[in-house]
Amino acid sequence: MLVKNPRFVISAVKPEQYPVTGMLEIAFAGRSNAGKSSLINALVGRKRLAYSGSTQGMTRQINFYNIDDELMFVDLPGYGYAAVSKDQKSLWGKVIEQYLNVRPQLYMVILLLDVRHDPSEDDIVMYNWIRESGLAHAVVLTKCDKLSRMKCKERVRAISASLGAGSTESFYPVSALDRTGIDELWAAIDEVMREES
Ligand code: GDP
Repeated sequence: MLVKNPRFVISAVKPEQYPVTGMLEIAFAGRSNAGKSSLINALVGRKRLAYSGSTQGMTRQINFYNIDDELMFVDLPGYGYAAVSKDQKSLWGKVIEQYLNVRPQLYMVILLLDVRHDPSEDDIVMYNWIRESGLAHAVVLTKCDKLSRMKCKERVRAISASLGAGSTESFYPVSALDRTGIDELWAAIDEVMREES
């Protein structure tokens, strides 16, 4: 999909602050540093629509982006940032959980995992939640340019096994840097959107 006019709408923490729109939403979830901002920018073909907070990994708001008045991208706070207190961590968990549980127009969750690392406990919790929710989803493995094609394939298999994913699970290896996999991911999003409409 060629995005013409992507716009930042609002940063929200509480459900009352979420924007009122009739558009369907795709949420992006992942650890801080997994590459969420870079992936959103690659999908919309902009350099700086989404950006990490000034202190990396510290953004705890949910950022909403309007994609050509067709759908919304929802950037959830990155979880698992080591340098925050337990209280802050549970607050971030709540912000994410609340959005996932209360938002009726949410119809797809994209889970990002750095292809080089094994999934963390938080990643596994998130993956299981998504799977059990019955929502459409895609597991995106980021930063593939950092590995050879062979190594990347190997990592897909290893990550799939760590997640306990079934044989029907789709994994999307991508690189925001060289745009590997970006068209394939858009095709998956488009297909889900067609099924919804
Ligand atoms: P976020 O915290 O999940 O939003 O992650 P960012 O998008 O800010 O990315 C975290 C770091 O990984 C930054 O230094 C990015 O430049 C880098 N990064 C993200 N995606 C890629 C990628 O596809 N390839 C490479 N080589 N680096 C990436």
